[in-house]
Amino acid sequence: EDKILEVKNLVKYFDVEKAGFLKAVNDVSFHIFKGETYGLVGESGCGKSTIGRTILGLYDKTGGDVWFNFENVHELSDKEQFALYRKMQMIFQDPYASLNPRSTIREIISEPLEVHGIFKKKKDQMNRVYELLEEVGLSRDHVNRYPHEFSGGQRQRIGIARALALNPDFIIADEPISALDVSVQAQVVNLMKRLQAEKGLTFLFIAHDLSMVKQFSDRIGVMYLGNLVEETSGEALYENPLHPYTKALLSAIPIPDPDIEEKRERIILEGELPSPINPPSGCVFRTRCPMAMDICKDVKPVWQEIDPGHRVACHLYDTNYKDSPRTGPQRT
Ligand code: SF4
Ligand code: MG
Repeated sequence: EDKILEVKNLVKYFDVEKAGFLKAVNDVSFHIFKGETYGLVGESGCGKSTIGRTILGLYDKTGGDVWFNFENVHELSDKEQFALYRKMQMIFQDPYASLNPRSTIREIISEPLEVHGIFKKKKDQMNRVYELLEEVGLSRDHVNRYPHEFSGGQRQRIGIARALALNPDFIIADEPISALDVSVQAQVVNLMKRLQAEKGLTFLFIAHDLSMVKQFSDRIGVMYLGNLVEETSGEALYENPLHPYTKALLSAIPIPDPDIEEKRERIILEGELPSPINPPSGCVFRTRCPMAMDICKDVKPVWQEIDPGHRVACHLYDTNYKDSPRTGPQRT
């Protein structure tokens, strides 16, 4: 399989006056294959949006590399980056905030086409706008209306049409359904699925809730406080979660079947989410981890592949610490 994106040891710190550095992304590595959806999940503030924005070059990196189609994103010239961004687009959580309220739908959708000088003739550009509206299931009669005249779901369709305008290969969808009514969420997910099938799009799908990425991700990465802590296929994550944080997240998703729901063990995480300015030593999750051991305080667990395609950063599974007082399953 071909990789479209490779994020290697990515670090992103923000300088917070006097307080020090906000360690938003700490040595994160993952890759995305062409045509797949990679779900990135974690509580708000865990660094997932920062990763999205750093991939797009909206933020400079502090360390590491981002490769897109084998090009090192942060080492390109401005002109090369501009060309690259035709291929990478973003959909935002709040479609209303990301659409200019004083622009008509026609202006909003045709903006990227104009910026990149795609069409010489207005008529061709207009036809492209109509085509895009049709692709996202909106009527062409809407072109001269303004964002406030649409529902949340319709506005997200407009945001998607704009993201599709330049025929991208890769779309970063940053919580695209979190602000929508539950009844509308499935429609938007289905639209993204259909567009993916038709156009062979690749998605990085960012969400704060595992139940949202479940229906739409081939593989899922779980983040906690700037670190990737587990990654595997969607099925494996639900059937065989390994990291204590993933287990806690999964246990918080209600199961519709009352018989299962009743017998299920709820894992309630104690304590507050630590500040990313002063993250805990060793394992970042240790202050809230029900399984924490002595070693977790001193040694940061490495990001290891422990089954094909299943990666985890936790001493319970760490083969480098055979003599450590592991309380978890012993692996051979
Ligand atoms: Fe918990 Fe230790 Fe594993 Fe961190 S390394 S998740 S503290 S058991
Ligand atoms: Mg966010």
